[in-house]
Amino acid sequence: MDCRNKRAIVRAERTKANGGSHTKKEWGTLLSESPACAVCGRKWSEVPPRPDPRYMNTWTKGHKVPIFHGGTDAISNIQAECYECNFKKNAGKLTKSEREIVARNQDRFSRAFCFVLESGREIYPVKMKRRETGNIAFRVSPGGTGGNTVKVSEEVDEPTMIHKVLKEGFAVRCSSLDGEVNGLYKAGHRSVREVRRLA
Ligand SMILES: [Zn+2]
Repeated sequence: MDCRNKRAIVRAERTKANGGSHTKKEWGTLLSESPACAVCGRKWSEVPPRPDPRYMNTWTKGHKVPIFHGGTDAISNIQAECYECNFKKNAGKLTKSEREIVARNQDRFSRAFCFVLESGREIYPVKMKRRETGNIAFRVSPGGTGGNTVKVSEEVDEPTMIHKVLKEGFAVRCSSLDGEVNGLYKAGHRSVREVRRLA
């Protein structure tokens, strides 16, 4: 697992613990009223393009009081920041307690691959306990979401899940690390931008 994923796990747990939430609409309104970075004051067009061409916008959602310093996810703590200012804040190594958070949460997801959604968010196959045996299983379905096919979901072990999803086009129950996005997803789903192999 790379550093970005570790950060994402810690961040998700911190965000949850700190409390507060905001809607997409609230963020959209705030952004539409923000012509420039709240930190450095540059207009969005004055910020150099992002190094990763998949990300077209120079603006990002930033927290006035950073999540890592106890800031909440409420709209009152949100501001539009350029990616350079925002990403500077999150530098540094994970502390011991942060590494513990990562270790705890890793168990909930398959680390074999993730789906990257159009929004850029990563979602991971979710492990669940099989009712009868208590064994870890993944729920897969040949139908996937929103189709007319009869949805026959089954619970399978991890190697079977990986094969069915990556080779046979099955959908699998997935969740983002913070649990905000979850559902059945498969490669080729309209909101899935790419499948990223991790292992
Ligand atoms: Zn800035």
